[in-house]
Amino acid sequence: MSATIIDGKAFAASLRERVGAVAADFARAAGRQAGLTVVLVGEDAASSVYVRSKERASIAANIAGTVHRLPATTTQDELLALVATLNADPAVDGILVQLPLPKQIDSHAIIAAIDPDKDVDGFHPVNAGRLASGLPGFVPCTPLGCLMLLKDRLGSLSGLEAVVVGRSNIVGKPMAQLLLAESCTVTIAHSRTRDLAATVGRSDIVVAAVGVPELVRGAWIKPGATVIDVGINRVTLADGTSKLVGDVAFEEAADVAGAITPVPGGVGPMTIAVLLRNTLVSAYRREGLALDESAL
Ligand code: NDP
Repeated sequence: MSATIIDGKAFAASLRERVGAVAADFARAAGRQAGLTVVLVGEDAASSVYVRSKERASIAANIAGTVHRLPATTTQDELLALVATLNADPAVDGILVQLPLPKQIDSHAIIAAIDPDKDVDGFHPVNAGRLASGLPGFVPCTPLGCLMLLKDRLGSLSGLEAVVVGRSNIVGKPMAQLLLAESCTVTIAHSRTRDLAATVGRSDIVVAAVGVPELVRGAWIKPGATVIDVGINRVTLADGTSKLVGDVAFEEAADVAGAITPVPGGVGPMTIAVLLRNTLVSAYRREGLALDESAL
């Protein structure tokens, strides 16, 4: 293995520490803590684990973390009513409705009902538009975390060839917008891309956000490229045990790439750290207090 391993776990820990220190400053200046409210509908096991981690991480970072746990039978109107209450609550800086939602609820309608200035997940169409237009807003946490890791590793990204494999609204598309804003030459690949190997092969930066275990092979990677693996896939091994793997064949790619994120311990830990960062940014903006957002 020749690649440098990008330690997302350590980077996320230091980001959470910075956020915690600035959040303490905020509480002193504003006379209240920054507030993140998470809404969980139903009892999906993975979602419950994510929500508990978000609650714990908020408290550790001096941010008031509140969770509303609603039954799986909650109606769309009931959820919309809760979102309206949170929009109007001055102590709430960030609202996050945990996805997926039960099938009787239209997640697009719920996301569209969140005040864009409290949409710390960055999923609201207004925030997608702001990102595309270069206006300040909120950027989805996972791609923003990927960008932080890339800039920490490479400094300026200007002029680099980048490929984003995957075009979802929560990862692929915002990732491509962020790389474009950094003056990369960006290709977005997806399931209809004719020659994925060649597209990946000309790229200095590869971001894989697909959800297919080890789709991106080491032989595709340009020597020295920086590889960011967003995928989290649980696969069953021959002996019946299971393990997590990314969307990139790690061992192969690490022989060719200049740097690569592992799974787990790469992009995954960045998401919650960026969520806390976005919540704190929201709190500063809403109180009209000065903050150097680029330093967070
Ligand atoms: P989606 O399922 O929403 O999107 C997957 C994308 O991959 C689609 O655009 C799809 O193309 C594309 N795709 C599927 N198969 C292929 C293929 N064979 N070749 C090329 N492209 C393909 O997934 P998400 O964006 O939500 O998530 C992607 C991965 O990232 C998942 O493993 C998920 O678990 C992980 N993830 C991790 C996070 C974290 O670390 N915190 C947060 C969010 C996601 P098309 O549009 O043509 O169908």
